Amino acid sequence: MSKVSPSKFIAKVATVDPPANVDRPSRDQAEEAVRTLIRWAGDDPAREGLRGTPERVARSYEEFFAGYESDPREILKRTFEEVEGYDEMVVLKDIRFESYCEHHMVPIIGQAHIAYLPNSRVVGISKLARVLDAYAKRLQIQEKMTAQIAKAIDEVLEPKGVAVVLEAAHQCMTTRGVHKPGVNMVTSHMMGAFREDEATRKEFLSIINRGYGAVLA
Ligand SMILES: [Zn+2]
Repeated sequence: MSKVSPSKFIAKVATVDPPANVDRPSRDQAEEAVRTLIRWAGDDPAREGLRGTPERVARSYEEFFAGYESDPREILKRTFEEVEGYDEMVVLKDIRFESYCEHHMVPIIGQAHIAYLPNSRVVGISKLARVLDAYAKRLQIQEKMTAQIAKAIDEVLEPKGVAVVLEAAHQCMTTRGVHKPGVNMVTSHMMGAFREDEATRKEFLSIINRGYGAVLA
């Protein structure tokens, strides 16, 4: 397991969210690019089994990278203020996510644990999962994604604190390169009370029950 200190990557977090409009090629151009990659891999894109592949890959890409179509801050905007004085931690744990390594364009698959300490406003829990997906379904690095999720929640809900822990396996480590299956990378981003108050952070870590106490505390 490796742990990356949040301070190391804060400066790299994209300021444009969603990213600025890029010059998107046509579907035909995307499919042609897939044919090129098939030839590069050493196969014949015209053979029967591969004929429909460029179209399927292009459609898969629409699904894999659907996050570029959503604005995480918009997702969070509908909040509820009537919380009857509830001011305890809200934790969503073990949320599966699928993301894509921006260095190799292969899957990063893992689980997210997201918590915040409300400050008069709460958000529907499905919204937290949607924010996770909005960032996951992009070309990513895990460290950046961890910080992006925390910052979006912090900016829109203005809670007393936010904690995000991601643990994931990177296919660029398991199926290529060093070939090390079974390795999970763990990243965390703690803000507000989760950063400043050890008891709050420990409570969160014990709720997600991951035994990271010594590493992340
Ligand atoms: Zn990679």
